[in-house]
Amino acid sequence: MPHSVSQDDADQTQDLLEQAGHQTQESEFFNPIPPGYVRGRHKYVVVFGTVMSGLGKGIFSSSLAKLIKDKGLRVAPIKMEGYLNIDSGTLNPYRHGEVFVLDDGLETDMDLGTYERMLDQDLTRDNYVTSGQIYRNVLDKERSGGYLGRDVQMIPHVTGEVKYKLRELAVKQRADVVFVEVGGTVGDHENAFYIEALRQLAFEEGPGSVCYVALTYIIEPPALGEQKSKAAQLGLNKLMEAGIQPHMVACRCQNPVEQGAKEKVAMFSNVPVERVFSMHDRPSIYMIPTEMREAGVDRHILTMLNLHERVNVTQEDRAREKWLSFVNKVTAPRKHKARIGLTGKYASLRDAYASIDKAIEHCATMMDADIEMVWIDVTKEDAPPIAQQLADVDGVIVPGGFGHRGTEAKIECVRYCRENKVPYLGICLGFQMAVVEFARNVCGLNDAVSSEFAPESPNRVIDILPEQKKIEGLGGNMRLGGKDVLIKPTTLAANLYYNTRAGKHNRHEPFNIRERFRHRFEVDPQYIETLESHGLIFSGRHPAQPIMQVLELPQPGSVNAEANAYFQSQGGHPYFIGAQFHPELLSRPVDPAPMFMGLVAAAVQHANPDLDPKHIAPRWLPDPEKDKPVTV
Ligand code: GLN
Repeated sequence: MPHSVSQDDADQTQDLLEQAGHQTQESEFFNPIPPGYVRGRHKYVVVFGTVMSGLGKGIFSSSLAKLIKDKGLRVAPIKMEGYLNIDSGTLNPYRHGEVFVLDDGLETDMDLGTYERMLDQDLTRDNYVTSGQIYRNVLDKERSGGYLGRDVQMIPHVTGEVKYKLRELAVKQRADVVFVEVGGTVGDHENAFYIEALRQLAFEEGPGSVCYVALTYIIEPPALGEQKSKAAQLGLNKLMEAGIQPHMVACRCQNPVEQGAKEKVAMFSNVPVERVFSMHDRPSIYMIPTEMREAGVDRHILTMLNLHERVNVTQEDRAREKWLSFVNKVTAPRKHKARIGLTGKYASLRDAYASIDKAIEHCATMMDADIEMVWIDVTKEDAPPIAQQLADVDGVIVPGGFGHRGTEAKIECVRYCRENKVPYLGICLGFQMAVVEFARNVCGLNDAVSSEFAPESPNRVIDILPEQKKIEGLGGNMRLGGKDVLIKPTTLAANLYYNTRAGKHNRHEPFNIRERFRHRFEVDPQYIETLESHGLIFSGRHPAQPIMQVLELPQPGSVNAEANAYFQSQGGHPYFIGAQFHPELLSRPVDPAPMFMGLVAAAVQHANPDLDPKHIAPRWLPDPEKDKPVTV
């Protein structure tokens, strides 16, 4: 491993660091170390981007972290963002990708979703940092006299804060390996202090502690018909100019990177050619961990970081088998076809609705289905009428959203699905629109609205309810993060969650699930009775308050007593469900979101009415036998 620092040098530095903890004013090594930190116990893999952003640093880093986690080691990923926002809450999803909400309520970048899914691990606010947070900490400390009269500088104070954050994460999450992803690319001004801090980290931690990976890009201009590595070389030079010698290079490329290009990269970056990894385009990102392992990337990391002894081989074999059976399904030909419509803006599926896209992928894979996503245009004046747009879809999702734009058309989508028995999944705003539609067209409250778009209207079935917020201690803010939801037995929601997320309990008892929330408005409790008496079932609610969190229409074969009125007039609906939370945020490759499983199963059934539903997804279907439904 090319390191310029010897163990002795590192030990000496460490002594200085420890002293510096007591002599803040004197030492240039100002560098507080979190309590409980043991040097050598925690290792670091740092992934930098060169040439351009958006190449998949998060995918590379999470795939590698997964391989290491599967070996029985504890991993903690962290995304370091260059922007000055404190969190992602105020970012426009059409510009920056979806806002991903963690269990502890932090609104983060969509990359945290990639980590949670790939690692099947819940993350916390310690796994995400922005320049804004770093500067705020430094400035707060300065105001409260924390620097004891010293001039506060980028180095050592801001860089010290970055290293503190990393070491604190390592201690808190007892990580064998911290995977650091630096946002943007090397050479961006806003990332310079991260890069400097990470350079210092290797110096302080000593040899065999930090492994730098550069992600670069091999261009294949169609006019030339060959792979060109010059841009990659320049990008790597930039990293080395910052004092960082990469230990490994991953090359993004459309096609597998040829030996010649690898050799050039190796030559210009001092990285042995066997540590130059081709990360070319694959049909699914879930193939990357396996291909990395085949290329020996994980073994190189273990060797460079002296981690072979911490590997648990039995655990690794088990994890690998489970993953391979998923990946084989990802690439296998699909049996069933269906089309699912999503209201939104066409060009933004991959980013603005990344978790929905992934949730559909997880479920389709598990059910051998080929799902085509279709855009339902709800904003353009000249868009075709909703009925026409929905005529050949087998399911509809109205996803989360804010503001008035397109809401009437969304309500129209709900109505179409309800009346024509097209499978429907309403998420957050889509749940609220389903309540408004039901209130208007079934309960006869023609002027029903959400106060988000008509604050003065009399029938605000969806409203801001400060008294409910106060109960949760939230004031006027958004309700954010993981919360428990109490599920009513023998409902569609109960069937969806019973076999998957609910654990062991009596099928006829209510049970709690946990899902992620991000909303401000909710169903006004004074309308619950009217809605229910017309047949809407609230099958999930706040465990202690009258806050409604899941709604559904009765399915044929599993009719609840209170749904009779609607059932008698309209018949059952094959799949109509809405959630005030975001089920897509907790969909994982080998543990897909139950509400999406139900939707995909119902859509496949809609597209292929002759199929026996038991062949599609037996675990997600109502079980009239066991539930002993109340007959109408
Ligand atoms: N705008 C709605 C609210 O604030 C829905 C939010 C969402 O869909 N995430 O409650």
